[in-house]
Amino acid sequence: MGFHLFDAPEREASQFVGFAGNAIDRQSENRRDDDVETALADPACRVMVMGGGRMHLKKAGESFSAWYGADEARALDAKLADAVLLGWDANGPVMAAPAGREVDDLPDTVKAIDYRSIYMQGLLDPAALGALAQGAAMLAWHHTHRFCSRCGAGSQMRDGGFKRTCPSCGAQHFPRTDPVVIMLAVTRDACLLGRSPHFMPGMYSCLAGFVEPGETIENAVRRETFEEAGIRIGRVVYHASQPWPFPHSLMIGCYGEAITEAIDADTTELEDCRWFSRAETRQIVAGTHPGGVLVPPKMAIAHHLISAWVDADG
Ligand SMILES: [Zn+2]
Repeated sequence: MGFHLFDAPEREASQFVGFAGNAIDRQSENRRDDDVETALADPACRVMVMGGGRMHLKKAGESFSAWYGADEARALDAKLADAVLLGWDANGPVMAAPAGREVDDLPDTVKAIDYRSIYMQGLLDPAALGALAQGAAMLAWHHTHRFCSRCGAGSQMRDGGFKRTCPSCGAQHFPRTDPVVIMLAVTRDACLLGRSPHFMPGMYSCLAGFVEPGETIENAVRRETFEEAGIRIGRVVYHASQPWPFPHSLMIGCYGEAITEAIDADTTELEDCRWFSRAETRQIVAGTHPGGVLVPPKMAIAHHLISAWVDADG
């Protein structure tokens, strides 16, 4: 009872969401302080250049490439001294470097595109999109953690960017990942979807919120669902996760068993929150809902939570 490992599908649900295709071998046990210099000297090294929430993509005919050689990145004034080594893929070292130029100063062969548009428009292959999530999260963390949070002295990048150390007090600081629960509250035949004021017209999605210190994933699902919708949740099961580089979160997708049905929505977070029957939700996922209700696109973990529930019982 309660042990489901050998019943789980071999292709876990997380493999189907955007930002999840990272194929980099991180070699985390072999990181050294000279990793960045060694990688930059490798002719096979490839660098992503990003800054201000945008990736500087290289135009390649009708499509885009995320990758520059070290010399190409240098020619674009990328800040290679602040680059991080993400790891190695089949072609060699993979790095991410902060951009050194304003968008207006880029050559015609380079286009700065925000991460969300790259993700929504499918401008990169899954492996590069996964690398984007890693690089964006790491560079964002370094950008906001240049000083030791214990003593205030300037800290130094170590281990290819996977650590910062303080030369003054010796403290070590590690890149952070912020866990967020995103959940679909369900009964036997209905699911709970909410609408934030900033959503596009007609869009409804799962509820979500940050996991707080000292809290289990399951308790965060129960707390957030009650705070946002006034619905009590009983059992909780994990479904899938999605790296979310805004700036460095991990979305943890769960189902929650709704044990009450009367909605009392937090109107500061949600402008609407409703139960949708399975038949109606099936129309929504198919894009044929008569009221024009939509859910997030296929690469979103919310879409997978909703569509997997729709499909679960025929
Ligand atoms: Zn310090």
